[in-house]
Amino acid sequence: MKIYAYEVREDERRAFARIGAELGAELALDTAAPTLENAESVRGCEGVTMLGQGKISQELLEKYRELGIRCISTRTIGYNHIDIAAAKELGIRVCNSNYAPNGVADFTVMMILMCLRNYKQAMWRGYVNDFSLGGLEGREMRSLTIGIMGTGRIGLQVLKNLQGFGCHLLAYDVYQNEATARVAQYVSLDEFYRECDIISLHMPLLSSTKHIINAESIAKMKDGVILVNCARGELMDSEALVEGIESMKIGALGMDTLEGEEGIIHRDRRTDIIANRNWFYLHQFRNVIMTQHMAFYTEEAVESMVRCGVEGILQMAESGDCPTMLTR
Ligand code: NAD
Repeated sequence: MKIYAYEVREDERRAFARIGAELGAELALDTAAPTLENAESVRGCEGVTMLGQGKISQELLEKYRELGIRCISTRTIGYNHIDIAAAKELGIRVCNSNYAPNGVADFTVMMILMCLRNYKQAMWRGYVNDFSLGGLEGREMRSLTIGIMGTGRIGLQVLKNLQGFGCHLLAYDVYQNEATARVAQYVSLDEFYRECDIISLHMPLLSSTKHIINAESIAKMKDGVILVNCARGELMDSEALVEGIESMKIGALGMDTLEGEEGIIHRDRRTDIIANRNWFYLHQFRNVIMTQHMAFYTEEAVESMVRCGVEGILQMAESGDCPTMLTR
């Protein structure tokens, strides 16, 4: 079976070659994002796989259908770039990818520690041979209460990772689960905000979670609270973050994702003028650590994303289903 792979990154090529050979799939690899203009390239293929930069609209799906495409996979967990309802209507099967929560969970613990030990400032000083200690005093995890908001796959893994540090662990979720209750104490949202020294976000972006961290919720938190966001930028109102950092209500921010990151992250924008004031204003603070939406990015996750992308299409074509199918 022939599959057309869009948005192929250099680091995915090895996995594509190995997995394609293992599963007996013929692969056409392309670095471009899928568009209506380049849709003709998929002629002769039965499946198409992509990442998240292209918009898989009804019009593009109709074109794919006309060209003989029966199955589509996105090598991402998120699938809001695909019109799933239109795919269903057209009889095109769609699946997403899956990877273990450990990569993001490990990264989150690193962010927490970097914030807690003023590591950004220490690193800056090292570049200019400033080996002074002033202002770098940190805190120990065992003295602190850490709260995980959103106790799904990643949130739970962060809690498990944190167990060895001896900190007091609190949890908040709209749906509680037993596995979390075994390692942390669920509390009400008000108590959560009041008691946590560090809060890490792990819920999806929904209309109910957009800007859940805002001026009002920040006001309920401890002075000097450390906020970590390795989930989605829009969970936090960046205006409120600026105010919180300026007023020193927020002690440190660790962000792998920030509101308005689209078009900035995963690209080399060194010579460009970038219009995202809050991003770049926040970026300059000694106590704000920002990374380029890379918490997921491990060898293991890339392997899993490519495997789901290829295997999902083959399984859907053969049996009409696969474990991550979205068009049931
Ligand atoms: P999941 O679906 O397993 O868990 C999400 C949890 O959030 C669920 O338990 C859900 O009940 C909870 N939740 C929903 N609304 C809530 C609310 N208002 N308050 C508190 N909790 C709420 O998802 P997951 O696999 O753990 O992933 C979590 C998020 O991490 C994803 O949605 C994604 O946005 C983000 N993510 C980021 C990266 C990265 O590279 N930075 C990679 C993967 C995932």
